[in-house]
Amino acid sequence: MYPYLSDGQRRSPDYQASPVFHKIADTPSGRVADLHKECLIWLLDHELTREAPAIQNDSPQEAVPKASVRPSQRKKADEIKRLEDKAGHRDAIDEDVKRLWQEHKNPKEVAKTIDVERLNPDTLAFYRPFHYHSTRPGALFPAPASDWGIYLWADKLLAYGGRMISRSRNIYSFTPDVIMALVAFEVFNHEFFHHIVECAATSLEVVSAGFGSPKRIFFDYTDKGYWHPSDLGVHPHDPLEEALANAYAYNSLSFISRIKAGYKTTAVKLYQELLKKRWRYDPPGYRHAKSYIDGAYVSGAAQLLAMLTHSADLDPSSAMLISRQVLLNGNSAFYMKPEVPTFIFGTPEAVEKFYELVPAPMETYTQLFWPTNTSKLDDAIQARKAAEAAAKKALAAKASA
Ligand SMILES: [Zn+2]
Repeated sequence: MYPYLSDGQRRSPDYQASPVFHKIADTPSGRVADLHKECLIWLLDHELTREAPAIQNDSPQEAVPKASVRPSQRKKADEIKRLEDKAGHRDAIDEDVKRLWQEHKNPKEVAKTIDVERLNPDTLAFYRPFHYHSTRPGALFPAPASDWGIYLWADKLLAYGGRMISRSRNIYSFTPDVIMALVAFEVFNHEFFHHIVECAATSLEVVSAGFGSPKRIFFDYTDKGYWHPSDLGVHPHDPLEEALANAYAYNSLSFISRIKAGYKTTAVKLYQELLKKRWRYDPPGYRHAKSYIDGAYVSGAAQLLAMLTHSADLDPSSAMLISRQVLLNGNSAFYMKPEVPTFIFGTPEAVEKFYELVPAPMETYTQLFWPTNTSKLDDAIQARKAAEAAAKKALAAKASA
């Protein structure tokens, strides 16, 4: 363990392990939520948090009265099975397969035919950082972690999804439940990126304490770096975090469509084409998402790291390396997607209606789940793909003969 110490040195009464090891060893290694709670207390003690009104409380005058909030919870396997049985199969009628195949082959062309006004995800949902604490009575969580998490606004999501549904009636793969699932997935993943950034800032705060007094990373960044020009200059895609959050949602969709080609991959590709087409109408920052999709994300994440550390001296390659592998990826968040406290809120009717269209929200925003079984359509797409590949091969063989 200590190869640089001889046995004699280690046994010597002059050698003592630092008390920090004992302190850590004596601390229970609990669940993430327990460790996070301790971390929040530490942040509070070091004045790295800020007081803010409770999001959820008993007053009907507040923006999010507790009565209209429903926490999103993981469904049990038998509940999922019941939803799937109720939704049933989508048949693979020839005419439908033909339309789906067209959408599968030319998502970009098909997306051009859908004319829908876009709203950016932060108008449909928001992320409440855990750096805000509330001591007001009625808060859902005890201080300091009051009310942190992702809030999906049912009324707005339904209105937005509804417009998209009415504008894409001629699109085979866009049924109302599929559109709502895609919107919920996109919006959740956008907000989840804000959680990733807060976790990266917190990691730097915790570690910076080891080099002296802890640095105030999160609020310095949100106050000075997120939007306002700083001595690093103005980022051309200000606020960069929003461009990256939009791109993160897009990239999360790509991850979903890595499965075998079929109905779901068609719907995802079409939705991604719509995003690329409509981002340009988003507010500043948001509208630059296209610069950070796929592999370009890493460059954006490293630039965000320069903002978080408020440094003009980061080594570009090293900053990209740690952004991708350590600080700014989905696995570096303190909570994985299903564990982030997520709430559906709005008027009781809207929350009810949202659950009708998206009956298992958590499974939907993490895995793009919808209950309808499309395996017959998936098989039909696979068969078309195989037939096309065989035809191409035969043609090539004929040409070379
Ligand atoms: Zn955002």
